[in-house]
Amino acid sequence: MIGYHTSTNASTIAFLGLTLIVGCTGGRGPIEEPRTEHPAPIEQIDEGGEVTPQKTPREQETIVGLQCIAAAYGDFIREIRNEHESARAVVVMNDGTEIRWEDGVEGKTFEQLLNEPDLRDQMSMSYPLGRRSEAPGINDDPGRIRVERFFKSIYGADKQAVNDNLVTVNWMPKHSGGKLRFNKLNGAAQALRAVSSQLDDGLAKDLLKYVNPTAGTFNWRKIAGTARLSVHSFALAVDINLEHSDYWRWTKKKDPSLPYRNKIPFEIVEVFEEHGFIWGGKWYHFDTMHFEYRPELLHPLCVRGASGLKTEAN
Ligand SMILES: [Zn+2]
Repeated sequence: MIGYHTSTNASTIAFLGLTLIVGCTGGRGPIEEPRTEHPAPIEQIDEGGEVTPQKTPREQETIVGLQCIAAAYGDFIREIRNEHESARAVVVMNDGTEIRWEDGVEGKTFEQLLNEPDLRDQMSMSYPLGRRSEAPGINDDPGRIRVERFFKSIYGADKQAVNDNLVTVNWMPKHSGGKLRFNKLNGAAQALRAVSSQLDDGLAKDLLKYVNPTAGTFNWRKIAGTARLSVHSFALAVDINLEHSDYWRWTKKKDPSLPYRNKIPFEIVEVFEEHGFIWGGKWYHFDTMHFEYRPELLHPLCVRGASGLKTEAN
């Protein structure tokens, strides 16, 4: 294993020979404070942070993945260190939760990736930014793999804790979109407000029906047919108008071959993506009403096609 040292400095973490920017830079009070850098520009990584050719592909993947996680969630990460025995990376959250980058289990099935992921799995399917004409490949579901403990540590460990972190977002007030409850932490609610005002001001009249009315944000619940918490449990996702949406389970009932379906225009998708939201319409298991705040997957180093990463689903 290559050598690296760790630092517990509040603002930087040295890992695998590079410096990741994490930790509180100015202190975060009880009131809502948006992230100012979103996502953090690559320039924040110091000169030593270049992925150099002598690193193995696996090491490069680790570095890039952790960079994207640190840039998106750095205010909630205390340090990234190596496990004593295995020298594998461990992300230590501010609340003391320790989450391993890789759990050592190789060759997970698709169901295992969803049910027992590590952080590496969470980053393993890169998200394709922008307009796509082709349907997603089989089981290509970038963003559906989520380490639950990671999100609990950041946004609230249970229903009450999340509830305490909610603020109101006036959804498209010029079009009477109503009030949405969204998580104030890590800039999530602020990102939704930015989406709202951009749609409110700029969306073509004939497209308004897709985003107004909306169909829900906060709902502490398991995903239907699974033991996993929906990301709606953390108030990090918004469902837009059900009436114009497609969901893989509905389609599969009518046609077991699960043909791809979508009616949501890309004009809407692009506004959400610009502000850190991924779209469920880019999943093989499509959920076209669903937009979810996942800045780590939209970091320039980690979107599909970025250098040093796998480009397809595994
Ligand atoms: Zn949803």
